[in-house]
Amino acid sequence: MSHGTTADDQARTAQDILGRDKDPHLDEDNPFEAMMARFDHAAELLELEPGMYRVLRHPEKQIITAVPIQRDNGELEVFTGYRVIHNTARGPGKGGMRFDLRVTLDEVKALAAWMTWKCAVVNIPFGGAKGGVVCDPTTLSVRELERITRRFTAALMDTLGPESDIPAPDVNTNERVMAWIMDTYSMHQRHPVTAVVTGKPVEMGGSAGRREATGRGCMIAIKEAIRHLGLPLRGTKVAVQGFGNVGSIAAQLLEKEGLTIVAVSDVSGSIYNPHGIYVDDAIKWVRENRYLGGYPNAEAITAEQLFSLDVDVLLPAAVENAITRKNAGNIKAKIICEGANGPTTAGADRILEEHGVFVIPDILANAGGVTVSYFEWVQDRMGYFWGEETVNERLNTIMQQSFQAVLSVAQEHSVNMRVASYMLAMERVAAVHRLRGLYA
Ligand code: NAD
Repeated sequence: MSHGTTADDQARTAQDILGRDKDPHLDEDNPFEAMMARFDHAAELLELEPGMYRVLRHPEKQIITAVPIQRDNGELEVFTGYRVIHNTARGPGKGGMRFDLRVTLDEVKALAAWMTWKCAVVNIPFGGAKGGVVCDPTTLSVRELERITRRFTAALMDTLGPESDIPAPDVNTNERVMAWIMDTYSMHQRHPVTAVVTGKPVEMGGSAGRREATGRGCMIAIKEAIRHLGLPLRGTKVAVQGFGNVGSIAAQLLEKEGLTIVAVSDVSGSIYNPHGIYVDDAIKWVRENRYLGGYPNAEAITAEQLFSLDVDVLLPAAVENAITRKNAGNIKAKIICEGANGPTTAGADRILEEHGVFVIPDILANAGGVTVSYFEWVQDRMGYFWGEETVNERLNTIMQQSFQAVLSVAQEHSVNMRVASYMLAMERVAAVHRLRGLYA
């Protein structure tokens, strides 16, 4: 990256570098459009009054800030950082910080709104926020990443806070980055403020069970769906796209529940074994070899084959827009559990519905992560920490209740689970707006 590049330039360069899909249905790829398509549909069904529609559609705050740092070679570089607070009617903004070349304001706006709906679906007292810095972490040293994090945090001092806006890890950020945010914020406040971020190391106020929370939440949601559809647990076949934090842990926990994981994939490729892949063994392989590619106890298949396998459950846990108009019709799974954010395009929704696939939407399926982030924030504010069993038990309760609440809306209005989850979330946020009234 050279001096004087704008965020748009950086994003465009990234598109070229990454060779992103040149789909003629470009709207399918735009996360903001994808979110709005679902939002508009739910608003119509809810007969949301036009004024409330406008309020819920508009982010409360959008920050674009320069993030100047000194590179290790002494040169000054300026990055662009965004933080969007979508809605704080139900509580402080909550949402991740990502470091990625593809970060755009549109994407951050969509992801912030998604967080509002996700927190409302699981009924935790947070609003939605998201942020990111346009940068390529693979070209930055650890010290440079630390400087970006600290300078970005300093630029957001008026926005961040346990009562106002609480970041968490996201694409290319982790526990270490959260520790730097907490430290920078605390230095400005002149006292330690652990509750300003979640996803921290356990030694400094992180929560037991946070690392496994999203995968565990997926497992709980899948079990609820299986029960609802009257399928057996034992022997139910699962294919998983993505074998990182969410995919590998969900696979491990599902296997423990008696399901058979027949296929998994990562960025290096997909593997299949009709008799079942022993998940611990595959995790060990990835730990030692970095990628799944070359794993000996399964056959290599293509990504398209993984999506069209004769399985009961498909768990996309990797990237956005994995299920599109192009491949939705080939899916044979009875249940799709969206571990990733936005893995299904709005165009694919229709096809899946026509084929009778039961989709557990992202804002419900992967909400286990933000739920345990909420537990972390609660524990930090109390200064009293729970054991892992307590965390898991409370997560289980929230996921089961949320699944049932969405299912009730779906049954009452004869809509699918995605539309129902948006309706439930939007109605919960709108209800608080109506109670609070408008400050003027
Ligand atoms: P991760 O980086 O740990 O793992 C991502 C996995 O996906 C890796 O195995 C990677 O190799 C694989 N992958 C990448 N591109 C792929 C492709 N084209 N095909 C197949 N596999 C591919 O990330 P994660 O934390 O597991 O997150 C995965 C998804 O879940 C993201 O969409 C993320 O936003 C979402 N999510 C994560 C959390 C969380 O707590 N980690 C919470 C909510 C949502």
